[in-house]
Amino acid sequence: MTRRAEQYDAQVLRREALGEHLVRLHLGGPGLADFRSTGVPDEWVGLVVPGQFQHRYYTVRAVTDETVVVDVVVHAEGLVTEWAERDCTGETVTLTEPKGSFTMPPDAAWLLLVADLTGLPAIARIAESRPAGLPCRVWVESADDLGDYLPDGDGLEVTWLRPPVGVTSALADVVGAIDWPAGDGYFWMAGESAQMRAIRKHLRHDRGLAASAYDVMGYWRDQARQRRSVDPGPIWRAGKAAGKTDEQIWAEYDAAREEETR
Ligand SMILES: Cc1cc2nc3c(=O)[nH]c(=O)nc-3n(C[C@H](O)[C@H](O)[C@H](O)COP(=O)(O)OP(=O)(O)OC[C@H]3O[C@@H](n4cnc5c(N)ncnc54)[C@H](O)[C@@H]3O)c2cc1C
Repeated sequence: MTRRAEQYDAQVLRREALGEHLVRLHLGGPGLADFRSTGVPDEWVGLVVPGQFQHRYYTVRAVTDETVVVDVVVHAEGLVTEWAERDCTGETVTLTEPKGSFTMPPDAAWLLLVADLTGLPAIARIAESRPAGLPCRVWVESADDLGDYLPDGDGLEVTWLRPPVGVTSALADVVGAIDWPAGDGYFWMAGESAQMRAIRKHLRHDRGLAASAYDVMGYWRDQARQRRSVDPGPIWRAGKAAGKTDEQIWAEYDAAREEETR
């Protein structure tokens, strides 16, 4: 029998702008009482924001008994982006059960981490939780100056890169130019999905890495936004402002969609 995936309601306790394109949300409240971290440093949750029913994935940047912290990249337009851009303090979101992927072999002699801004929260948590002194080289593509974001010293070497103009990312070139350390280690990377497919190919074919020596995750897709004919967000916000119940609001949303398809 399959188990129903857990979901957790949480309130935005605090919203902090870390940079022009990065917003930190501290989530808490009684709904998180049963939330248990996997302990895997790149763990993520699905986040459903008010007035929406689709989730987007976000890394658990930090977790305590009372709070879950996520860092949200605010890009040109998007369901979570548009919500996180405004003051969402006090609002209720839903989180899905956390999952993780990072599986560094215990005998890895070094760690290489590469990402755009969406992978920075995971890089920070991986770097913080790695064995003390394990040599770790990091490349991050970011339009924001976030020099203080990553822990300093203890074998950590960070290269900040500006995103290129006119193309999604130059991280494939960065990986192609890496001077790989001797011995066996672990390579972790996250960014735009199409680029990640090219990188996996490079690691397998050009570098001859075994699948257990790397983890390359597509975090987002560079594609035209799929617009729904009727966006539930404005309907939900107007309904809330008018003091309607969720049930009434969703009935109005269904009616608007039916009207649209007539
Ligand atoms: C395991 C995992 C962990 C993740 N962790 C984080 C995290 O900690 N922080 C974080 O910010 N993101 C993270 N992401 C990426 C995030 O889920 C996507 O970027 C997501 O699409 C953002 O949702 P949105 O509602 O803002 O935009 P969407 O509604 O999904 O997309 C709208 C439009 O924006 C474009 N778009 C989406 N993301 C980006 C982007 N980053 N830059 C430029 N254009 C974009 C799409 O192509 C689309 O055209 C993670 C993804 C995965 C799979």
